[in-house]
Amino acid sequence: MAGKRDCPSCASEIPSDMDRCFICGYEFAGKPSNRPWRLWVALLLLIVFLFPLIRMLLKAIR
Ligand SMILES: [Zn+2]
Repeated sequence: MAGKRDCPSCASEIPSDMDRCFICGYEFAGKPSNRPWRLWVALLLLIVFLFPLIRMLLKAIR
């Protein structure tokens, strides 16, 4: 069920599953529906993608 709520900052309609307004960047506080594991998955992916790049850079320096 995708609900909508009004952003208190810019009064735009934001999907209720979003933690942040994509118009003005307002963060909805006090909502326990956010999933912290997504942050770690994103961080892990970032490291996995950056690691070969860093190795290449280190090789270039040497
Ligand atoms: Zn907003």
